[in-house]
Amino acid sequence: MIVMKFGGSSVADAERLRIVADIIGSRVDRRPLVVVSALAGVTSLLDEAARCARGRDGAGASRAIEQVGKRHVLALEAVEDPASRASLAGKFEAILSELRLLLSGLEILGEATPRSLDAILAGGERLSSHLAAAVLGGRGLPARRVDARQVLVTDDRHGASRPLPVPTAERCERLLRPLLECGQIPVLGGFIGATEEGTTSTLGRGGSDLSASFLGALLGAEEIQIWTDVDGMMTADPRLVPSARILPQVSFDEAAELAYFGAKVLHPATIHPALDRDIPVRVLNTLRPASPGTLITRKSVPAGGGLTGGSAVQAGGLVASRSRLDETPGPVKAIACKRGLTIVTVASTRMLMAHGFLAHIFEIFDRHETAVDLVSTSEVSVSLTVDDPRAIKKIREELSAFAHARTEDGMAIVCMVGEGLLRRSGIAARAFEALKEINVRMISLGASEINLSLVVTDTDADKAVRLLHRAFLEGAPE
Ligand code: ADP
Ligand code: ASP
Ligand code: MG
Repeated sequence: MIVMKFGGSSVADAERLRIVADIIGSRVDRRPLVVVSALAGVTSLLDEAARCARGRDGAGASRAIEQVGKRHVLALEAVEDPASRASLAGKFEAILSELRLLLSGLEILGEATPRSLDAILAGGERLSSHLAAAVLGGRGLPARRVDARQVLVTDDRHGASRPLPVPTAERCERLLRPLLECGQIPVLGGFIGATEEGTTSTLGRGGSDLSASFLGALLGAEEIQIWTDVDGMMTADPRLVPSARILPQVSFDEAAELAYFGAKVLHPATIHPALDRDIPVRVLNTLRPASPGTLITRKSVPAGGGLTGGSAVQAGGLVASRSRLDETPGPVKAIACKRGLTIVTVASTRMLMAHGFLAHIFEIFDRHETAVDLVSTSEVSVSLTVDDPRAIKKIREELSAFAHARTEDGMAIVCMVGEGLLRRSGIAARAFEALKEINVRMISLGASEINLSLVVTDTDADKAVRLLHRAFLEGAPE
């Protein structure tokens, strides 16, 4: 069997849903399990509705929900059978009424907990999975909508829940395996699950990729396919670097680093489940289903020999890249960028020759459940970057009890990735030469064989990505 996950822009409207049905219909012999995101923009509309309700703006919340409703009613056009169209409209209305009720609760309370926010955001995938299953059913395909909350059992860290392998495996065997074995196509919403107590949870924005890889790993899929709006993983975000090239093959490690450091095409947690079971992940373009996409596997093929995006053209929201063969082997495969970071710098002369200082600092970050991305130390100071600012103020207060602590917001990590990157000499020199007009605040080199990361200000990040792309990925063959 294979898992086919379709992102928001792939299921944005009736036209796209028909394309998705064609793609699935032509792959039935591979016994697909389908995971769909919410229709493009719907999760953000639900988020806006929740924010309005929490701020006691009931009219704003209603407006956002009405838009969600309208989008789904318009998309009904893709369902060929009028009877199932009518029953689907009823299912939509039931979910929308539940959402309106939840929103009026938030409005009365004037607050939204992560748990209630999850109940609202989950609406998008609950709706889209009904819709996608009906579109497939209307084509005569044996699709069966399964509520992902019955299958994906998660922890209770609402807003960023993680699926739990043991109970989810049991649900997969009980609820999904029998469908697959009798030739049916299970259709689930990504991004959503429920705790062991049955409370609705979400995996965080972009989390449908993780749903797909997690289910694929537990079901022993032959391949996990991520269908999106670009031709595959590229040498940089094509929206930022139009000349970005398509990478035909990347390793699990490279893909994980790129995703973690901002390549939005994959949720950062997608690779882990696939790596554990050694299942290939393929990133494919819904608007160009014949293009081979990017294959992500254990082993790495050196950079170069890939396809060139040439000019990535915007086609109604989807980027359809015109590809040509690239012959540029080099140490760097791709460049990613993660924005909105804070640098925390802790300085103390007590650190001089002392032991336990770093442990003390990390213990504070750990207690506040704040992940650290990059660390750079000198004898008397240490700088760290964090992407979750929620606990920064408290962390800083605690650090100030024994050291001088300061924070700087508005930072970004620009990250160059490639297997064996550090086995080649002169990479850092070339990177600094390319960025000579940009103030590089921190650098991390050598922690991983495949990653060289630089911290710059958010305002310099786009320029830094373009300059590095030009220096390492647009030159003549080495
Ligand atoms: P989906 O809705 O299908 O999940 P996303 O918007 O989450 O799609 O991810 C696809 C987007 O990721 C692309 O449109 C592209 O702008 C962005 N992106 C960022 N970095 C990369 C990269 N290195 N390769 C390909 N796409 C990238
Ligand atoms: N619908 C969710 C989002 O927009 C999850 C996803 O698409 O992966 O973030
Ligand atoms: Mg995504």
